[in-house]
Amino acid sequence: MELLENVKSVLEKYSKEFIRINDFIFDNPELGEEEFVSSEYLVNVLKNHGFEVEYPFCSMQTAFKASIIKDASLPTICFLAEYDALPGYGEKGEAAHACGHNWIAATSLGSGILLSKLQSIYNGNIVVIGTPAEETVGGKCKMVEDGVFNDIDFVFQCHIGEKTNLNQKTLAMDSLEFEFYGRAAHAACFPEDGINALDAVNLLFAGINCLRQHVTSDVRIHGIITNGGSAPNITPDYASCRFYIRASSREYLNKIYKKVIDCAKGAELMTGTRLSFKNFENSFDNVLYIKSLQEIMEKNLKLSGIEKISYDLGSSAGSSDIGNVSQVCPTMYTEIALDAPENVKVHEKEILKYLSSEYAHEKMNKSILAMVLSAIELSQKSNKF
Ligand SMILES: [Zn+2]
Ligand SMILES: [Zn+2]
Repeated sequence: MELLENVKSVLEKYSKEFIRINDFIFDNPELGEEEFVSSEYLVNVLKNHGFEVEYPFCSMQTAFKASIIKDASLPTICFLAEYDALPGYGEKGEAAHACGHNWIAATSLGSGILLSKLQSIYNGNIVVIGTPAEETVGGKCKMVEDGVFNDIDFVFQCHIGEKTNLNQKTLAMDSLEFEFYGRAAHAACFPEDGINALDAVNLLFAGINCLRQHVTSDVRIHGIITNGGSAPNITPDYASCRFYIRASSREYLNKIYKKVIDCAKGAELMTGTRLSFKNFENSFDNVLYIKSLQEIMEKNLKLSGIEKISYDLGSSAGSSDIGNVSQVCPTMYTEIALDAPENVKVHEKEILKYLSSEYAHEKMNKSILAMVLSAIELSQKSNKF
């Protein structure tokens, strides 16, 4: 209890600054890969608190890595910040922070900074990584590929969720673009000369719709036609479509991926078109949980005053690049209920009312406290892993 009171009293000193971070990022929404104001602001905050900063980082203009390394032989705990907004949610259709990534930025920076003020208790290294574009290309994917997490022992991140959940499922996801090349012809005068690329797209959709009957219920396949020809009297010589395919595990998704490609190959063969396909965005993996980390976080959430905690896998799930991180480094990803007066969810316009309100600030403080207590506990339990 002495530890809790000690950490709480230091948090109180800095809480106003953490609230300012939350509100500044909220008031300056920027889309993925364009988070220039946000990343510069966060980097300056971290520098002011004595962090060594690499910025830009990992070949991404709006990524950064901030570190306080005491001794490489000690455990290194990392907090991941996000700060990209969503398009179209603002009053005039501009970007806005409808997924609460402003809150993630404040919560993760707050945890790193608070831990840096507790060095007599926390015996480890601190890293805060700014990860751009979670909503689009997924900046963490490149970081995983480049080995950014190789010298990190534990990763923490909290996100606003419907309920406080230590086991929220995220789906592995691949993005697939298919392009079919055919031959143009006058669709009325010389239809026999045409090779219809749009037919191939339609047949691909039909094939995938049949496939849906024979996959497990966690699978999601959703697509759009991105090019379907230019005029009804011209046989389309080019057509294209894009799909996201998702499943609970990377292993199963890889099987579905092959089947979807086979549907496209079938459409190519049936129409006599030529097919090309590629992944048009980074692939996301499902998030992995570690029971001992969940237990530590649960205990510390309770100490921080968050009592209602779920381990619900949930029936609905999206995908996130935190999944990729969790596949290479022990990761504790936690969803935190906002407990606002209305039942608002992320990606809803109504949540904007609350993401720089006292509800967000209160949950930010509690989440910081829980992550910092967990980090201290891990540093006391572990030697270098
Ligand atoms: Zn989102
Ligand atoms: Zn989000």
